[in-house]
Amino acid sequence: MARYLVTGGAGYVGSHVVLALRDRGDEVVVLDNISTGHRAAVPKGVPIAEVDLADQRQVGEVFAAWHFDAVFHMAALSLVGDSMKRPLHYIRTNVNNSVILAEAAIKAGVKRLVFSSTAAIFGVPRVTPIGENTPAEPVNPYGESKLMVEQALAWADGANGLRTACLRYFNAAGADPLGRAGEDHMPETHLIPRAILGALGRAEPVSIFGTDYDTPDGTPLRDYVHVTDLAAAHLAVLPRLEEGSVAYNIGNGTGYSVKDVLAAIERVSGRPVPHSYGPRREGDPPSLVASSERLRAETGWRPAHDTLDEIVRTAWAWHMAHPEGYAAPMRGAA
Ligand code: UDP
Repeated sequence: MARYLVTGGAGYVGSHVVLALRDRGDEVVVLDNISTGHRAAVPKGVPIAEVDLADQRQVGEVFAAWHFDAVFHMAALSLVGDSMKRPLHYIRTNVNNSVILAEAAIKAGVKRLVFSSTAAIFGVPRVTPIGENTPAEPVNPYGESKLMVEQALAWADGANGLRTACLRYFNAAGADPLGRAGEDHMPETHLIPRAILGALGRAEPVSIFGTDYDTPDGTPLRDYVHVTDLAAAHLAVLPRLEEGSVAYNIGNGTGYSVKDVLAAIERVSGRPVPHSYGPRREGDPPSLVASSERLRAETGWRPAHDTLDEIVRTAWAWHMAHPEGYAAPMRGAA
């Protein structure tokens, strides 16, 4: 049995990676400062090291306490709009913390690291779908910070033998199909949960950020990938690290507009999604659609929940079952 460290394991994607590892019988330790994550998102029996990655000493202690076969590094600040307002905070947090983690892993003799990167490293790509060879030219500090980490890790492979898999997530969405975890941010800014909360009357009507993009209906196109499929990709890439460092783009390969998403929520829920129209959000590219051909060809990964309706259905089910998110008292039973 292998043991893995998951940083950000109390967060949205991280908690689904923890479930995927546990479901196949692996041992997991979560490292999370619970700044945006939730203790209740971590299944019972999984130890949580409540450590801030900026604290080099405490991070070192986590590696001294356990042996890890690999590290999944998901802890980060991840909001494009927020990063435009606090660029240096994003870059310091995401870059410094990743460097501290990588150094601790190297010191402890851990040779494999899977890094949560993002489609935001590509900025406004000229060619779509976006393959791995697309030039990385971020248009927001969030994407810039993730690209800087990718580059730092590449140097650490050459010098220190730390093999890394950089996974460029497109838009993670949906919830665990068994209802054990879901999306709960505070405040919620992501389109699908934000629109669902509006439909449930738990938030103001969602605002559509811009209708004058050069896209079929004027709203931006995104590639929504089910969070459970995203989690499965983390496991699928591990064997690839025997041969060297890798980078993969992860999405379904289909772009849906903001209006498509709202229509899907209405279809799935049978309820209207109240909405208003607002200005563009700074830093938002018009279209981000992945080519995941490399991931499919090299690892055999296939998305199991690849329709927008299925993605929205699991998100809707999560919010219906947990209207207050992880704040509800019955959490943590996963
Ligand atoms: N969006 C929107 N209203 C919202 C939140 C998001 O119109 O309240 C749009 C946003 O402009 C983007 C898409 O929905 O085109 C997805 O945004 P999200 O924040 O979910 O993810 P991102 O693409 O920024 O990672």
